[in-house]
Amino acid sequence: MTTIDRARLRTLLDTERATFAHTHSRSRQAWNDAAASLLGGVPMTWMLKAAGGFPLFLDDARGARIRDLDGTEYVDFCLGDTGAMAGHSPAPVVAAVHRRLAELGGATAMLPTEDAAWVGAELTRRFGVERWSFALSATDANRWVLRMARHVTRRPKVLVFSWCYHGSVDETFIVLDTDGRPRSRAGNVGAPVDPVATTRVVEFNDLVALERELANEDVACVLMEPALTNIGIVLPEPGFLDGVRALTRARGTLLVNDETHTLSAGWGGATRAWNLQPDVVTIGKAIGGGVPIGAYGLSAELADRLLADRDADLVDTGGVGGTLAGNALSLAAARATLADVLTESAFADMTARAQRFAAGVEDAIARHGLPWSVTRLGARTEYRFTSPAPRNGGESAAAADADLDDFLHTWMANRGVLMTPFHNMALMCPATSDADVDLHTALFGDALTELVG
Ligand code: PMP
Repeated sequence: MTTIDRARLRTLLDTERATFAHTHSRSRQAWNDAAASLLGGVPMTWMLKAAGGFPLFLDDARGARIRDLDGTEYVDFCLGDTGAMAGHSPAPVVAAVHRRLAELGGATAMLPTEDAAWVGAELTRRFGVERWSFALSATDANRWVLRMARHVTRRPKVLVFSWCYHGSVDETFIVLDTDGRPRSRAGNVGAPVDPVATTRVVEFNDLVALERELANEDVACVLMEPALTNIGIVLPEPGFLDGVRALTRARGTLLVNDETHTLSAGWGGATRAWNLQPDVVTIGKAIGGGVPIGAYGLSAELADRLLADRDADLVDTGGVGGTLAGNALSLAAARATLADVLTESAFADMTARAQRFAAGVEDAIARHGLPWSVTRLGARTEYRFTSPAPRNGGESAAAADADLDDFLHTWMANRGVLMTPFHNMALMCPATSDADVDLHTALFGDALTELVG
């Protein structure tokens, strides 16, 4: 097996960063200038996660392409880390937003629109669960669902899988350390309480540990992605998801599928693709076609329980509301996205592109004799620097290699391809073409030749 020469990798990374700095001077200037008014020079500090050394500033974007302030055009496989899975500014969404904002007016009026019911019905068709509510982000959808689950079950704890990510939800910043003990995640900013007090955590694909933890009968809900996607993609092993469902049912624990990223598995996410039966589905990002939205759907039975609960303040200050949540603009955008952009046939095409992407990467890895693996979840593909592919979050975290990530990302950016900053993850949108995929394949092969000869 080929091994990576670390000194060579450092040199290559330095060279790529120097090129990046040289060719992106307007972005660098904009970043420097913004430091006077913005925390870290960016509108959100995670935008500082920039392999090239500083963030690219966006000029315009359409479909699968982005252009930065320096006028460089990119094939965009990041797609706003799924927020732009529909492609950038797809025409039906632009038209719907224009209609709501400019023609009809009333982006935020604190009144329901008929679009909301249409979107709810469509999400039911896709995910099965019957009663939907809206938020402005997947984070808030998850946050509010955890409250509802604790309220309905009268249980204090939630359970998540180690190295999960569900947005900035306090209860979820927990991992198992190398001795298998639960710990607050490193860098957890100003945690209101230690998540060890609120949360049980087990490794993905570990039904024995799940059974042990649920036996305490203090877990309101399991909040999970049906496949982990935020520590590389970790797929469920055969029988794992059935086991999760059976164990949660047996212990009176609700099961929440967070489909924010696993929507890539198909037009009804992993829930539909794998015939899952959760009590709740949460989602956000992609379904607004670029306009902020989050959503959570409850089974009819759970919804009835909640609505009948007189102790739950669902109409005022009970802790599950946002003034702009469910606004007319978000829902007009979501209706157009689901009706006309992220359709069943679009998913078939996006999945075919992702297969092509995975095949290209696998081939290059094999040619160079590297012990790496490629995992695909429908329209999303990811490579990890270990083989076989990790079985759980802990294994995947152990395979992280920041220098390799940075080198590959900067190499790609310098040649017109953007990857998701937090991963080696590539997402296809309806506008992604075979030629876009083939460009990545060629560049990836070239990068490996440069790296290992
Ligand atoms: N759930 C999952 C699975 C996610 O990956 C993310 C964000 N990456 C979120 C929830 C939170 O989404 P947002 O930051 O848009 O609230």
